[in-house]
Amino acid sequence: MSYLSIDHLEKSFGANRVVKDFSLAVEKGEFVSLLGPSGCGKTTVLRMVAGFESPTAGRIVIDGQDVTGLRANARNIGMMFQAYALFPNLTVAENVGFGLKVKGVPRAEREARVTEMLRLIGLPDFGARYPFQLSGGQQQRVALARALAPRPRVLLLDEPLSALDAKVRVSLRNEIRMIQRELGITTIFVTHDQEEAMSISDRIVVMNGGVADQVGTPFDIYNRPTTRFVAQFVGTLNTFDVTVRDAAAGQVDLAGQTLTLPEALQVSTPVIALRPEALHLGRVPGAEALLPARIDEVHFMGSVIRLRATMAGTRVSLDTFNRPDQPPPSPGTDVEISFSGRDAIVLRQ
Ligand code: ATP
Repeated sequence: MSYLSIDHLEKSFGANRVVKDFSLAVEKGEFVSLLGPSGCGKTTVLRMVAGFESPTAGRIVIDGQDVTGLRANARNIGMMFQAYALFPNLTVAENVGFGLKVKGVPRAEREARVTEMLRLIGLPDFGARYPFQLSGGQQQRVALARALAPRPRVLLLDEPLSALDAKVRVSLRNEIRMIQRELGITTIFVTHDQEEAMSISDRIVVMNGGVADQVGTPFDIYNRPTTRFVAQFVGTLNTFDVTVRDAAAGQVDLAGQTLTLPEALQVSTPVIALRPEALHLGRVPGAEALLPARIDEVHFMGSVIRLRATMAGTRVSLDTFNRPDQPPPSPGTDVEISFSGRDAIVLRQ
């Protein structure tokens, strides 16, 4: 049996069903992200696991114990929120030790644990400071230490990085992941940032309108989305209407080019999608198709350059790696773009 098991969870606020038959099994030590657009019910699921909201139906089991009817403070769960929820009138050490004090942990043990936690978050000498003397990133690290100090069974993270600037976000998310691995703590992370979810999760649950559309590894979610919503929400897609040439062989025609898809087709008028990295400037060896295109925009992003182009009457995005010896084509340039059916995603719904 899984360490954390969420079975057929439902939540309605009045007539509004915001979580619908949501089930998820999380293994011990796993890092699972709930990813989805604003209002899809991520936070509500997390709050039900924490015990801040009671489900309309369903069950939550942690380590063999049914906690569905248990009060939040009896669940032994650590939580970290978006806002820096530190107590402003307590020092860093007192903040980190707060949960231990509430639990009645003896002073000496508490102090040892606080020291250990401050070392873990890389702020060993910050115990005597007050929250206002810390940067946003440091405050969130202290919030993490405070959540972890009582050795919770599960760690719940509700968009803990969204108030931070881009660079701090990236370094802190890596740090959270490192600490989570080191402690082997089962973690659920809520975010609407797909890049963030993909970079740190063992598995991702993509939520849409209160249901889990797809659960899988970041690799599977990105490369094998099972619904159109998941395909479009995670990453960038170029979509094309195609005509079927041979459904059983997975062969379709796109603007006069024949593509062989990675799977047979069951539908008569499919739409296929190609990620920006599946389109190549010029002919690459082994490519099935080559079409003329015109460059519309060039976005230099550092290691990657995203080109926007018009190809066969469709606006497409194409990613290419930066090469210092080869500047990208300018807007207005006529180019050729090559691609292959084996890189395509077939969109069904
Ligand atoms: P966000 O990323 O914006 O936080 P979310 O996916 O976490 O979104 P939830 O906060 O779970 O979404 O909210 C889901 C829906 O439930 C929303 O439509 C919200 O307005 C509604 N909702 C949440 N809490 C309550 C409440 N206490 N009373 C009534 N409606 C609520």
